[in-house]
Amino acid sequence: MQWLYCDFHIHTTWSDGKNSLDNVVALYGEVGFDVIAITDHVLDSESISRYGRTASELFVMDESKFDAYQEALWGAARSAWEKYGMLVIPGVELTNNTNRYHILGLDIKEYISPDLGVEQIIESISRQQGISVACHPYSRNHSGDDPSFFLWENHERLATLFDAWEVANRDDLFNVVGLKKFNYIGSSDFHEKRHLLSWKTLLQCEKNVESVKEAIRKNDRVSLFLYRGGKIRHD
Ligand code: ZN
Ligand code: ZN
Repeated sequence: MQWLYCDFHIHTTWSDGKNSLDNVVALYGEVGFDVIAITDHVLDSESISRYGRTASELFVMDESKFDAYQEALWGAARSAWEKYGMLVIPGVELTNNTNRYHILGLDIKEYISPDLGVEQIIESISRQQGISVACHPYSRNHSGDDPSFFLWENHERLATLFDAWEVANRDDLFNVVGLKKFNYIGSSDFHEKRHLLSWKTLLQCEKNVESVKEAIRKNDRVSLFLYRGGKIRHD
């Protein structure tokens, strides 16, 4: 069976990404990716009031914009499939900078507040048949003050609640995730074009959303690859 080239952590101008949704789809589609998830930030309300205007400009794709965001993603998914044969999975990064956790919800249909506790968020994602991913759970080279250490501090309790953990995020590898033998994926945490050259996930499964989700959950036919540019060859 084929190996699919996947990136499950991508930001656009719907939050703090530099590229528009159409632009991102074209970028990944043209080099031959099979599956991408768009995961713009929704930010916890305490951080929104703390950051003030910058937050609403940079981060917030809040509840009032969520339906429009979802519609834009469905539209992008349709055209990406027609044009490139690439799956686009609608997602979100539940960003709680007050309590320090970032969680990806993939293929969710309804808004989830990032103010909720980790267990409640995971439960809500799985109730919607989505995929929950613990984001950059360990310290990263490019980020001194890590916003998501809570997940690692509580990893014993949270280990198997998540469908997967990021073992790689952009340039960073988290060997602790590997040592614990958690389900894993690797992603770019794409915010701008140069982030395309980074860790990604390979999955061996059929190219449809249900099979991709099942492959992440089972996590037995999964691998990492470091994308260095150029056309991806499927052979
Ligand atoms: Zn994050
Ligand atoms: Zn992110």
